[in-house]
Amino acid sequence: MSLQRRTWLSQAAAAAWGLTAGAGMPAHAAKAQAPLAGAPPRQRLAPGGIALLALGPAGRRPEVRTPAGVPVLVTGDSRQWTAVVGIPLSAAAGEAQVQVLSGEQDARVVRYRIGRHAYAEQRLTVAPGHVELSPENLARHERERAHQAQVIATFSQPWPERLAMRPPVGGVASSSFGLRRVFNGQPRSPHSGMDIAAATGTPVTAPVAGRVIDTGDYFFNGQTVWLDHGGGWLSMMCHLSAIDVKPGDDLKVGERLGAVGATGRVTGPHLHWSVMLNRASIDPALLLFEWPQASR
Ligand SMILES: [Zn+2]
Repeated sequence: MSLQRRTWLSQAAAAAWGLTAGAGMPAHAAKAQAPLAGAPPRQRLAPGGIALLALGPAGRRPEVRTPAGVPVLVTGDSRQWTAVVGIPLSAAAGEAQVQVLSGEQDARVVRYRIGRHAYAEQRLTVAPGHVELSPENLARHERERAHQAQVIATFSQPWPERLAMRPPVGGVASSSFGLRRVFNGQPRSPHSGMDIAAATGTPVTAPVAGRVIDTGDYFFNGQTVWLDHGGGWLSMMCHLSAIDVKPGDDLKVGERLGAVGATGRVTGPHLHWSVMLNRASIDPALLLFEWPQASR
């Protein structure tokens, strides 16, 4: 079975079994969240985490790229610049690096080490053949995936001022980011966002200022809004019952963009929220001021 085929099967399987709905870790089963220690952004040197790499002083903001050439977000000022590197969930533990072009010195390499993080694991036995997509739906999903890859490649300026986010919805968040799913003994792609359980119609707001760069109704993700926060920092909000914005709209933090729903391949209403840095989905909790709360 090709990797590509496995990828859509895994998403289909997850959808068919309600896992994208957060039903794998339903709200009533979610364990209480530990308080978030320290101010965002928080470092986690593990897949799905963030590496904060001190680059030293420089008169101009250095240019930083991943080994694949993807531009990396850089914050700070002339006294100290910091690269904020998203570590893909698919990254292997071990040595990693970025390339730095300061404009004042020759290009150099900054190394860091990716460790491990104990994400939850869920093992399920499912009937073979239950998760097949029709040829039409498969073709649709392939088109939508190509479109999404273009959206994810967005890198714009101005640079964000502060890397911190507010919960985009009041609700109950489970520890769902990074959840490793194993179907019939075969590992599937891990869960790449935070699921927040809330009733249909609950307002969804911008977690930080941003520009709407895409809206649509997608096979797996349902009604979706993408926000660009600058510097390759993006948010994706899925399964919405209503979309109140259009591409090009500039939103302030806390401004409404839509409402919680159950559109796409889900079994119940919730917000799926993905956050990306340099095209890598990272744990949104690393950038949150506080956990989502049901009574907002
Ligand atoms: Zn989800």
